[in-house]
Amino acid sequence: MSAAIIHQSKALPPASRAVLRPVDPGNDASCAHCGEAVKFAARHQRRQVIANVYVAGRWNRVEHFHEDCYGAAGRPHGVVIEGHEPAHRRRAG
Ligand SMILES: [Zn+2]
Repeated sequence: MSAAIIHQSKALPPASRAVLRPVDPGNDASCAHCGEAVKFAARHQRRQVIANVYVAGRWNRVEHFHEDCYGAAGRPHGVVIEGHEPAHRRRAG
């Protein structure tokens, strides 16, 4: 009996992860794949992939991608997580 449940152990170092978010007005990040700005557009419900990148178990940086670019880049930070962050998430540092 193997359940498809992912156990989140506090012993494990945090890993890079990518989440899908709406592009906010005033967003000025550049896409890590194509280098162009990830811009808000009122007419389009644009979404971006925001990846928290961990190196050797420590948070290193945030990378932004156009939604399409992330797939084109081969999902470098894993499968995109859709939806909201867990409410119990703690802020680092
Ligand atoms: Zn892009």
